[in-house]
Amino acid sequence: MSRAKRGMPLHIKILISLVLGFVAGLICQQMVNNPEAAQGSKDAIGFFNDNLAKPAGSIFLNMIFMIVIPLLFSALVLGVTEIGDAKKVGKVGLYSLALTVVLSSIAVGIGLIGVNTIKPGAGIPEVKREQLMQQYASKNKAETEKRLAQAKEGKTVADTIVDIVPKNPIDAIVKDNILAFMFFALVFGLALGSIEQERAQPVKRFLDGIFHVSLRVIDFAMKLAPIGVFGLTFSAGLVLGLDAIQALGLYVALVLVALAIHMFGVYSLALRFIAGRNPITFFRQVKQVIFTAFATSSSNATLPTALKVADEEVGLPRDVSSFVLTVGATANQNGTALFEGITILFLAQLFGVPLTIADQLGIMGLAILAGVGTAGVPGGAWPVIAIILTKYNIPAAGIGLVLGIDRILDMSRTVLNVVGDVTIAACVSKLSGEKKSLEEAATG
Ligand code: ASP
Repeated sequence: MSRAKRGMPLHIKILISLVLGFVAGLICQQMVNNPEAAQGSKDAIGFFNDNLAKPAGSIFLNMIFMIVIPLLFSALVLGVTEIGDAKKVGKVGLYSLALTVVLSSIAVGIGLIGVNTIKPGAGIPEVKREQLMQQYASKNKAETEKRLAQAKEGKTVADTIVDIVPKNPIDAIVKDNILAFMFFALVFGLALGSIEQERAQPVKRFLDGIFHVSLRVIDFAMKLAPIGVFGLTFSAGLVLGLDAIQALGLYVALVLVALAIHMFGVYSLALRFIAGRNPITFFRQVKQVIFTAFATSSSNATLPTALKVADEEVGLPRDVSSFVLTVGATANQNGTALFEGITILFLAQLFGVPLTIADQLGIMGLAILAGVGTAGVPGGAWPVIAIILTKYNIPAAGIGLVLGIDRILDMSRTVLNVVGDVTIAACVSKLSGEKKSLEEAATG
């Protein structure tokens, strides 16, 4: 999601809105709870909340929702098609695919274990939680009860698996069966990657157009973000008060620690045991990639630096790194997958939405796929998070709370996304026995 062209960067505006909205909500909460305050001012606060703050938040979120399906479909199909092309690249493609799936699953696993252990969203008193749920949607309460009843009834494993394969993809969209819809995109992408180039090309070009149009719509939506986030955090501040700050603090710390564990723990192991490299030396070599990813919050924007560093500093063969890094910029996003898993569970805890083990496994699957379907741009994760939240009846308004502090998390997860691509490239070149040619070494 873009920066403002001139003047203050968008993420700073959003941060300011978050703080202002929250502080205003907090002050109003004091007034509403003060028995001596005039009834007139309490009514005015209620009016402001119901007729201005909440609608502003909803309009902003709806703008994001309305483009999620085209965005997700085009990104996922194009991502999978490129991995599908991997067959043509032979071993390199297969190893990349396998490592992407394994590393993304570990990343989401770390996130889910962390969020279930630390429970950053669970410290909110029950009364406030209920108020918050009422604030955001009465429909959600009914859905939550229905969900609890369903959870008691239990769904068989076979039913859960069958539900992933949609009879009708449009019906899957309407019923918010996002996993089934993603499955459809996945199959479509694999098929597209396997037909003759001549036939596939126009479809790819069309989807590429859809993808870029969708990103532009998200840019439009983000222009409303400062107002939307003010509205959303005002409502949250009004109900949650200071409890929200503690929950958010824990959540941010958890995301950062989980990202660090994946980067310095899991990647180090992969580098040592698969790529046969010294992890410390490797992290030193890729420092320029780390800085660029951190500064731009965008895997796409970091791609040129990543290609250069892989070639000149890490010494990877060009054919491997150009394939793995280019595809990986969109299709391999471990940091994003980890972040999405934590954020969805955090918001579920915050609103007290019960999630069964099957739900959590579903979220894990979605987060792994989301790593493939997320655009490598700042804030690319949000449309995907929005749609997964809806699927599990977690109020999407919770996004307002996290969006204001997202920039630092986005910078950090993008580092993991891109370092992950270079790590996979190093592992793949070792596994496939590819080495830098003498000519490359001389010019590189
Ligand atoms: N900013 C991330 C990237 O470009 C995507 C996201 O997680 O929002 O890699």
